[in-house]
Amino acid sequence: MFDYLIVGAGFAGSVLAERLAAGSNRKVLLCDKRPHIGGNAYDHYDEHGILVHKYGPHIFHTNSQEVFEYLSRFTKWRPYEHRVCASVDGMHLPIPINLDTINRLYGLNLTSFEVDRFFASVAEPRAAIVNSEDVVVNRVGRELYEKFFRNYTRKQWGLDPSELDASVIARVPVRTNRDDRYFGDVYQAMPLHGFTRMFENMLDHSNIKVLLNADYREIQDDIPYREMIYTGPVDEFFDYRFGKLPYRSLEFRHETKEMEVYQDAPVVNYPNTHAYTRVTEFKYLTGQVHPKTSIVFETPRAEGDPYYPVPRPQNAALYAQYKQLADVTPGVHFVGRLATYKYYNMDQITAQALSTYAKISGNKHRAESTVRIARPQLSPEPAYTATTLSTS
Ligand code: FAD
Ligand code: UDP
Repeated sequence: MFDYLIVGAGFAGSVLAERLAAGSNRKVLLCDKRPHIGGNAYDHYDEHGILVHKYGPHIFHTNSQEVFEYLSRFTKWRPYEHRVCASVDGMHLPIPINLDTINRLYGLNLTSFEVDRFFASVAEPRAAIVNSEDVVVNRVGRELYEKFFRNYTRKQWGLDPSELDASVIARVPVRTNRDDRYFGDVYQAMPLHGFTRMFENMLDHSNIKVLLNADYREIQDDIPYREMIYTGPVDEFFDYRFGKLPYRSLEFRHETKEMEVYQDAPVVNYPNTHAYTRVTEFKYLTGQVHPKTSIVFETPRAEGDPYYPVPRPQNAALYAQYKQLADVTPGVHFVGRLATYKYYNMDQITAQALSTYAKISGNKHRAESTVRIARPQLSPEPAYTATTLSTS
């Protein structure tokens, strides 16, 4: 008899498997319908021997000391600060927009003070910041919005920014200094030997059995267990009782080039050209030295594997119906990006899983209760806080 059947071997499922097995001596069966552990953070060596991320670029960053220390039990780290360029008007310019972006785009030589005044002069102040268009137009005006954000967002989500919650574009800050890092978090690093190795270490415990290529629906009647932790799509769990929750999908086209370096930045975003949104060159992320280089193109799709919840009011309302049902479903805990319909990063999912573990085990100490998991925000939206996470 297993104490827990955990569905999904991504961050949510693996952190809970590790905690329940090692922290509470519970017997755990962790299953995934995919042929590997790691969920969307899975990485592997491709046929050329280059470490790539199968489901698009995953860069670890967090403001949470507890999350960082927890994951550090299972991996060493390679310091890495992510940088992204946007291909705009034939140039590769730093995104998030910063002082250099503006000076290079307009051929200017502004200082930080002057660029602040420039933003104020082009901004179209909005009384309320409700959607993703408001966030950018209110801060940097329509022209920069159209060059950097509107078309990227339409491609990525199949929706206009005005149809998406402010929190989506607010993920990307605007800066008046020359900081060209994509993230502002205190901890920014990549697992030294990759994410999959980190997950292997996490799951290496005699109380954990891992079953791959296994949809839980095929095994749940044959395997005795006491409780379930479910990290797949919540609407699927309930057979779409209230209708389908929209998830955005992506198609990943992996290629290997016969050259050492392909592009001038780890990621190049293409807001206005091509069907794909961005191109990632993995060796920048991993630090691997290799005479060839592997890249991935991401093209957004309406159909396919669910990768992103789509943050907008009508979807939140539909999710609220599923959440109500989830809350009264005995013996099942819903955790993770798909099961709680939250546009969360890896660190936020780790914090959510640690919080769930604290609740399950009756442990009063909540791992993330002392920290804020936040990034600089453009909008007056509340940052993600421990409360947000633990009530999710
Ligand atoms: P998942 O990783 O999706 O794991 C859920 C697992 O459940 C899957 O493996 C799935 O196969 C399995 N499953 C579903 N249904 C069933 C079933 N019926 N039976 C058995 N198994 C099932 N975060 C960052 O912090 N930094 C980044 O740079 C970053 N980049 C990203 C880039 C892309 C393209 C995407 C899509 C996401 C990115 N993220 C990033 C977010 C990150 O992937 C998630 O926060 C994290 O992986 C979520 O973990 P999870 O366990 O909730 O879900
Ligand atoms: N975004 C944009 N232009 C960019 C980068 C981001 O319009 O050059 C918007 C877009 O809507 C995107 C969102 O900001 O979906 C969040 O970007 P992020 O890079 O955080 O997305 P993720 O890595 O989660 O796909």
